[in-house]
Amino acid sequence: MTPVLDAAGLRKSFGGQTAVDDVSFRVGAGEIRALIGPNGAGKSTCFNLLNGQLRPDGGSVRLHGRDITGLPPWRIARLGVGRTFQITATFASMTVRENVQTALLSHRRRIWRCGRPARSLFRAEADGLLRQVHLPDQADRAAGVLAYGDLKRLELAIALAGQPVLLLMDEPTAGMAPAERGALMRLVRALTRQQAIAVLFTEHDMDVVFGTADRIMVLDHGRLIADGDPAAVRANPRVRAVYLGSVGPGSIDPGSIDLGSIDPGGTAC
Ligand code: ADP
Ligand code: MG
Repeated sequence: MTPVLDAAGLRKSFGGQTAVDDVSFRVGAGEIRALIGPNGAGKSTCFNLLNGQLRPDGGSVRLHGRDITGLPPWRIARLGVGRTFQITATFASMTVRENVQTALLSHRRRIWRCGRPARSLFRAEADGLLRQVHLPDQADRAAGVLAYGDLKRLELAIALAGQPVLLLMDEPTAGMAPAERGALMRLVRALTRQQAIAVLFTEHDMDVVFGTADRIMVLDHGRLIADGDPAAVRANPRVRAVYLGSVGPGSIDPGSIDLGSIDPGGTAC
């Protein structure tokens, strides 16, 4: 079956330095895949190559078999590649519902006529999306006053408004309390399975990674050094060496890289 995303031989250098080096992988519909690695490993560059923010020096990106390599980000977004960011992007003074309505408007390319308030458009659909992310009670509140976890759920609703076939999530749980992280990712997993969306996410919290992902890829110095299910990646000696060898200034928090402490059942997440 044609995968949703097929990245083949991706390469990107900045000056003389190779940031992404011959990276290939596929993500299928309904699959949640994590991309992990120490700081500077090339995770964000990979994301930027996939959504058109950066043009690869080599390799290709295919979406449902269609070559989208080098297309501008807005075109790739229109083809169904959604992205959420580490810093949440919402309109603080609009209500929660209006934020989702605005995303729906933008996706449907309807011109927002002056004098016609956003609140009259796509209201039922917006409320449907808010129910999906368990936020219906917050619909009339300003986004700016939401608790952080609710804001992340709103961001997810905004991403879903674009009806993505592929969702790229850059540290979706950054800044959240540990207990909330698992809940958000369980929701992501349930919704993406239900809607057969392919998800690729980066994340520093190993409980979230091992508790959520179907498959985990590990980048080191731009190269994929592992790609497998959580049990295989946890047992991989090279992965352990990279993480345990990477502790130091500029690397990830040593507390989050104790692969041996991860619950094999992933129930911590
Ligand atoms: P990660 O997201 O895994 O922390 P990045 O993809 O941000 O890693 O960075 C990979 C490497 O590429 C790093 O050495 C980084 O300094 C370099 N890099 C990333 N973006 C740029 C850029 N726009 N210009 C120059 N170097 C960059
Ligand atoms: Mg990064």
